[in-house]
Amino acid sequence: MDDSIGPRIEAAAEVIAGADALLIATGAGMGVDSGLPDFRGDRGFWKAYPPFERLGISFVDMANPAWFSRDPELAWGFYGHRLNLYRSTTPHSGFEILRRWAEGLAHGCFVFTSNVDGHFQKADFDEERLIECHGSLGHLQCTTPCHSEIWSAAELEVTVDEDSFHATSLLPECPRCNALARPNVLMFGDWHWVPHRTADQERRFDAWLAEVAGSRLVIVELGAGGAVPTVRMTSDRAASHLGGTLVRINPREPHVPHRHISLSLGALEALAAIDALINRSARPLQDGDRDRADPQGKEPGDGLCAFEGKRECGPGKRNRSGSYR
Ligand SMILES: [Zn+2]
Repeated sequence: MDDSIGPRIEAAAEVIAGADALLIATGAGMGVDSGLPDFRGDRGFWKAYPPFERLGISFVDMANPAWFSRDPELAWGFYGHRLNLYRSTTPHSGFEILRRWAEGLAHGCFVFTSNVDGHFQKADFDEERLIECHGSLGHLQCTTPCHSEIWSAAELEVTVDEDSFHATSLLPECPRCNALARPNVLMFGDWHWVPHRTADQERRFDAWLAEVAGSRLVIVELGAGGAVPTVRMTSDRAASHLGGTLVRINPREPHVPHRHISLSLGALEALAAIDALINRSARPLQDGDRDRADPQGKEPGDGLCAFEGKRECGPGKRNRSGSYR
């Protein structure tokens, strides 16, 4: 840690301890401390999936729905392997720290994540307080799609030959038309993603944002890079439109707007450091704590400006150049 980071960790601890609403915004960097790959750049992807380097296929190439018709076993080899990895991986202790921070807050927390791993649900976060803006690998849809149904992948078992990365088990089918089924994950250049599950989450998110306007909102953003900026844009807009304080935790891209808090650390290291300070500050939070002055001298949101951010994902908001996975 550099010398200047200590005061910033203290500032983060103070503002979180004084919050009454917590927006948790996460990208791929959140999963790294659980042992998940973040696919950062071609090298990062190929390190996690060496067979694709031999084939000359990048992550962006692979996260494309065309593979489900071009080479269904390879498509399901890739997504099936990830599904198995997410299932067998335990979310790191930073998830529990976040859940504890949210307990007892007047407005609780809401999670906005671009991760498709289902790890917030696995870490016992409330399913009704979560938006998975790129969909979920734990859910399936028809590749055609012949209808808009989305169903759970809980029963699906995929066996993958790790030399060829082809699925060797029976591939899932649409229960209506028997076409191949695929994950309900928003891919690059994806015109067939069924969006209503994420749209429902988005409606609940908008309602929560309206509820927290005027409160002491803190946005804790973790491991969200600028390459696919949906998460960062959501954090920035919640901070600027709702008067929240942004705590951006990112080892490589920690830049924040003026008066917000930047921590160039990994997710778990930062959460543990902040949590240690919160715990050390002794007594449990009292009701009066909610009324004390904001540590940064910021005024809470005035309650007049509704959050108007237009997230680029979600129904009718996709970037038609196809910049999601
Ligand atoms: Zn179908």
